[in-house]
Amino acid sequence: MRYADIIGQEDALRAVRQMVSDRRIPHALLLTGPEGCGKLPLALALAETLLCQEPEADGEPCGHCRNCRMAAALAHPDLHLTFPIIRRKNSTSTEQVTCDLYVDEWREMVTASPYVAWDTWLNTLGVENQQPIITVAEANAIVSRLSLHASQGGRKVVVVWHAELMNEQAANKLLKTLEEPTPDTHFILTTTKPERLLETIRSRTQRIALRPLSEQQIADALTTRHGLDDNTARRLAHNACGSYTSACSMLGVEEETAEFFDLFVLIMRKCFQSDVKSMYQWADRIASWGRERQKAFLAYCQRLVRENFMANFRLEGLTYMNAREEEFATRFARFVNERNIIGFMTQLDDATREIQQNVNARMVFFDLAMQMALLVRR
Ligand SMILES: [Zn+2]
Repeated sequence: MRYADIIGQEDALRAVRQMVSDRRIPHALLLTGPEGCGKLPLALALAETLLCQEPEADGEPCGHCRNCRMAAALAHPDLHLTFPIIRRKNSTSTEQVTCDLYVDEWREMVTASPYVAWDTWLNTLGVENQQPIITVAEANAIVSRLSLHASQGGRKVVVVWHAELMNEQAANKLLKTLEEPTPDTHFILTTTKPERLLETIRSRTQRIALRPLSEQQIADALTTRHGLDDNTARRLAHNACGSYTSACSMLGVEEETAEFFDLFVLIMRKCFQSDVKSMYQWADRIASWGRERQKAFLAYCQRLVRENFMANFRLEGLTYMNAREEEFATRFARFVNERNIIGFMTQLDDATREIQQNVNARMVFFDLAMQMALLVRR
């Protein structure tokens, strides 16, 4: 992770670079700011600088030494990664669990993009009703690791993601280490809610506050990193409320919607043509997806059918379609009418239930296509 990969945050970057060039890097830093503003990317870039054998004068890690390469892969033995976790299904207590158990999943998620949404981590953990926490077992693991010499002979760095989710025991354990720092050890804590940290921890750390990103910064990043056109980038940036991660998840939803739309249009065309072979191929393609995605597609089809039915009444403000969907509706809406609307909805409901019940997805979607071919002719 290089500083150049961090979006905006000029003030925070200037502060960090100054610390590095003055060689006055605090023993414990607290990076605060709302979700999606770049706390973790900054923490990881700084960690890399601290571990780099020959950082550049402006505080950039060199990017090619052995330490940099290991740090960039989040696999440096002196880079300790701490983040909230849950207990495994067969384990009785979270207290015995350390981050080692989940480090591969976390590493994979963060190396894909260090702009990580909290929800992405919850999905990765498969959390339903549990609140992930930083456990006292993890705090103990940090303390015992810091008592050893750095395996590469340089500094030791601990990055704590979502530090506000340390439970009290864990926080007290860590506090002792913060009060009696071992030489060449650096803590970088990140949090969206600094007020939830123990006051004693806050007072032991030097704080750098990151700000929400501007719409322009998010739009520029979407354009250069995802190749979006200016209009789409500006629209997503406007709705992202300063969070690059939420802009990226909206982008993910848009891409999925576009694919769902294409598949709906395709199957309707094949239905009109009574092209059974293509209908089978269509079902085969959707059958290769995961169950949640199949259900999301069926829900999308229901929405589009409903919107097309409503479009017949030309009620301003009652349709919620994007530009492509609206254009499609000018030709398709007349085929959704009071004779078949209930049938469409029932078929889609049935398909959703069968998918939920693990019925063979290829058969469910092929059957659905055949039924829709009959319905559009009514
Ligand atoms: Zn280096």
